[in-house]
Amino acid sequence: MFRALVLDQQDGKTQAQVRTLQESQLPEGEVLVAVDYSSLNFKDGLAITGSGKIVSQFPMVPGVDLAGRVLESADDAFSPGDAVVLTGWGVGERHWGGMAEKARLKADWLVPMPQDMDARTAMMIGTAGLTAMLCVMALEEGGLTPAAGPVLVTGAAGGVGSVSVVILAALGYEVHAVTGRPETEAYLKGLGAHALVSRESMASKPRALEAQRWAGAIDTVGDTILARVLAETHYGGTVAACGLAAGFSLPTTVMPFILRNVRLQGVDSVMCPLSRRQQAWQRLARELPAAALGEIGHSIGLDEVPDYAQRIVEGQVRGRVIVDMS
Ligand code: NDP
Repeated sequence: MFRALVLDQQDGKTQAQVRTLQESQLPEGEVLVAVDYSSLNFKDGLAITGSGKIVSQFPMVPGVDLAGRVLESADDAFSPGDAVVLTGWGVGERHWGGMAEKARLKADWLVPMPQDMDARTAMMIGTAGLTAMLCVMALEEGGLTPAAGPVLVTGAAGGVGSVSVVILAALGYEVHAVTGRPETEAYLKGLGAHALVSRESMASKPRALEAQRWAGAIDTVGDTILARVLAETHYGGTVAACGLAAGFSLPTTVMPFILRNVRLQGVDSVMCPLSRRQQAWQRLARELPAAALGEIGHSIGLDEVPDYAQRIVEGQVRGRVIVDMS
């Protein structure tokens, strides 16, 4: 018997409840994992509150992230006791996910825990941190270096934004952080942000081209803010777009692309190939300062998840929320 957060639908509305389940109820998969930690991402918030069409069938155990230990494995790649981490692959959307004390999963979805990383740290990073690192790698592949000039991060006080600020600052970039919450100034500067930019100042419709302010950018919000970021990006700069916290539209023009050689690189962490994922996790283990992570994360229990899910959808969660199964 083990505890799990279970999503069901009643009269078209999603209900979330902690229940006791049996191992035999778990879906198919080669590897049975004892989950030590999960984490709460924006997507989990949409799934648990039912405010986004994330879950494809009910009942569903949410949780796109998990870290734990292998209990049983029918695949030679894993043995009992191995520490593993999982993000994405539709887990918590189409396959029961991490917000449970146990999960049964496909071996191909699991990444061996990087050396010197523990399960809690892995979940402080989670999908949000992996996505942040994939965005940084996209900027580097676009040719960005710290010498090129200031770099912008939008949705900076959120999960992806916070980790992006830390990684970029640790790599020597001058990071400018867009936030709608001025009260997070001390937090964001503590993570390494050089200066704050108000969300309001970025939210007005831009002209086709604006003054060039940013050598590169990581955008987690989309919509008019992303359009403004593109219009303000330096000649030859790269923008990594990964999110839609403000909306999925992109009301832009071709001008930044055809007159300023701006590159817009989409970033997906869910179906990201294993080799790139492993590369990103190795870099996270090496390059993310542990001290900064302490500021970013705080833990909650399984029972508190529905409340925090509502808060993350409303943009009220700061940094990363770790779900502790113990
Ligand atoms: P969070 O809720 O933790 O962060 C989102 C942040 O966006 C908020 O903290 C807030 O930052 C800002 N924000 C919220 N609402 C608005 C708004 N209406 N207008 C402008 N800014 C807003 O979410 P995550 O960091 O987990 O995810 C961020 C985005 O990235 C989401 O859209 C998520 O779906 C996406 N994502 C995509 C992935 C991929 O693989 N492509 C993987 C992970 C996430 P502040 O208060 O500082 O303004």
